[in-house]
Amino acid sequence: MERIILTGDRPTGKLHIGHYVGSLKMRKEMQDKGGYDKFYIEIADVQALTDNWDNPEKVRQNIIEVALDYLSIGLDPEKVTFFIQSQVKGLFELTCYYLDVVTLARLQRNPTIKSELKMRNFEGNIPMGFLTYPVSQAADITGFDATIIPVGDDQEPMIEQTREIVRSINNLYGETLFEPQAVLPENLVCRRLPGTDGNAKMSKSLGNCIYLSDDSETVRKKVMSMYTDPNHIRIEDPGKVEGNTVFTYLDAFSETSDFEKYLPEYKNLDDLKNAYKHGGVGDVKIKKFLYQVLEDELAPIREKRHYYEERIPEVYEILRKGTNDANKKCNEVVKRLEENMKINYFEDTELIKAQSMKYTPNGD
Ligand code: ATP
Ligand code: MG
Repeated sequence: MERIILTGDRPTGKLHIGHYVGSLKMRKEMQDKGGYDKFYIEIADVQALTDNWDNPEKVRQNIIEVALDYLSIGLDPEKVTFFIQSQVKGLFELTCYYLDVVTLARLQRNPTIKSELKMRNFEGNIPMGFLTYPVSQAADITGFDATIIPVGDDQEPMIEQTREIVRSINNLYGETLFEPQAVLPENLVCRRLPGTDGNAKMSKSLGNCIYLSDDSETVRKKVMSMYTDPNHIRIEDPGKVEGNTVFTYLDAFSETSDFEKYLPEYKNLDDLKNAYKHGGVGDVKIKKFLYQVLEDELAPIREKRHYYEERIPEVYEILRKGTNDANKKCNEVVKRLEENMKINYFEDTELIKAQSMKYTPNGD
């Protein structure tokens, strides 16, 4: 079996540091390590429209932003195929066939969908496109025979749904599709990075993000106004580390070498956490440190982004080429499924012969 990686993002805004630690960083590592046959990255505009149908312009504007973010972190179009979901028509066909093997009750049980419906106040009036996007996502994955899916943990229910669809299709029509696996970051805090406001998830839709493209001053301001421990008022007060977003980000981003560089009075993060818990470490100090750590990571990304921002037509060309490539692969999968479902009527000479025999058994 080929080793095919697929992942993607909704073009609903620029990408943020939650995407970075949850998925983008791992993509870059996978790309650099090699050892795969194909690596697809989808800009999921069809999925973005399921809760932005009244604002297609937002989706249209953000496609390039997401593409720039990919290139800025060092994803390389020579090694990765970038494509736009809506322009791969085979995905709509697969979605349609898969919808037949999924029930309404099953879709309503999906925990990520449940919390997203709540967040969008859709509960009383659920759009079918939104409710069924996990099925469309199953098409995105299986439409490229992808089995390795680097994502944040909110995507696990989607991968499980995909596996169920694969099993149903294979049971019904014979071995056609492959079961995918989610690949999550080892560092648990990276699987779902909270927002700067302390909300459980940094998310474009919640406006609690530090974007990869934020300038240095914006990052500084966002960090300085971050949620910490509301009871840690004076420097001498003992502080809480659990649920303190600054420490969660330090868990995700800082390395021991950062302490030597910026905070030599502490040996490492455990040492700093202990001191904070006992009292005597101010929030301004930990925030300044976090800002420096983030800047080390974000400054080169920002610079690379500026390079591509001056070459926009080139970036669209990368997307066009990748989308052509993606269409070729997806059409192969659609053809395979149609053959196995035996709905490839015009190629099926046996069928045509058998139907003729039914009416003119003697060949006349
Ligand atoms: P939206 O609010 O529009 O849904 P989003 O910020 O959730 O946007 P997506 O495009 O839905 O972003 O997610 C793309 C990928 O990034 C997924 O693999 C998802 O798991 C991962 N991801 C998103 N937010 C985070 C986060 N805060 N921490 C870790 N991973 C994340
Ligand atoms: Mg999301």
